[in-house]
Amino acid sequence: MKGTVTGGSNNIFTVECEDGIVRRCGIKGKKLKDSSGYYNPLAPGDMVTLEADALSGDCGKLTGILPRKNEFVRWNVKGRRPQLLAANLDYLICVTTPESPPFRPRFVDRMLIQADYAHIDPVILCNKSDLGFAPETEVRIAEWERLGYRVLRVSAKTGEGLPLLAALLEGKLSAFVGQSGVGKSSILNALDPNCALRTGELSEKYGRGTHTTTRGDLFHLTIAGVRASVIDTPGVRRFVLHDISAGDLALYFREMEPLIGSCSFGMSCSHEQEPGCKILEAVYSGVILEDRYVSWMRIREELAGNGWAD
Ligand code: GDP
Ligand code: ZN
Repeated sequence: MKGTVTGGSNNIFTVECEDGIVRRCGIKGKKLKDSSGYYNPLAPGDMVTLEADALSGDCGKLTGILPRKNEFVRWNVKGRRPQLLAANLDYLICVTTPESPPFRPRFVDRMLIQADYAHIDPVILCNKSDLGFAPETEVRIAEWERLGYRVLRVSAKTGEGLPLLAALLEGKLSAFVGQSGVGKSSILNALDPNCALRTGELSEKYGRGTHTTTRGDLFHLTIAGVRASVIDTPGVRRFVLHDISAGDLALYFREMEPLIGSCSFGMSCSHEQEPGCKILEAVYSGVILEDRYVSWMRIREELAGNGWAD
């Protein structure tokens, strides 16, 4: 039988099976457990094969995993291993806010880079638009739009922009990512009041794991009678890129990528001070937004192993 992983912890996964039953499943044998190199072998969105338990109706054993369309991964600093956050996504919804918590464009840049790397279509969702956007925030948002990223401005509080978001999500599998407090739960509740996710400040939350046993991290919204599948990822404070080298990072900055190799020093240019550097020239002439260049420099430093800065 086949099924979709909706959540799990400690190698027990909840799986929505094709017969409509949700089963709790362990992994059969060591092969699947050890095959990925990831912190966790399976994530919400994974399609699996399983054997249903003959004796208890809602248990089973996972026997295999179907090939993934894509994998959304971050580097888990504590676990020192890549962590698979979601699989088989149609959209990565990168949630941000103009304030409370403060606008952190470089955090969004990181998610966009990892999405482009994984060939997942990213969407920048600016929530709390009822709070208004500062001019420098507007500039940053306009730049993402110019680079071809899709940006939606919404407010879970006033409902602004939610019909557009709903139209995007319908019939798709989307993962919501962002810092704690940006309003992921509030948006999902506003789209479908039946989903009744717990909202509030971080200190009031129990964090990951409290709801996973009952509903899982992947669940379905019904919006005006139409179904959308979403994955609510735990709010992360840091988003560290996985499997992208410092040298390759510019490939994932859409405005830098076309200039790579055209500097006077060719591929050996570090784009920091060399004469004839096309990337620096583009920064000076405003073709590359300075804050995006700073973003690239800081992420590159981090990937080169020189610590983390945001
Ligand atoms: P999560 O950690 O990303 O799931 O964020 P929550 O959904 O728990 O929201 C965090 C806080 O932001 C709560 O106090 C919400 O009431 C508030 N909030 C969420 N969406 C909006 C919005 O659109 N506008 C405003 N002003 N506040 C919001
Ligand atoms: Zn250069």
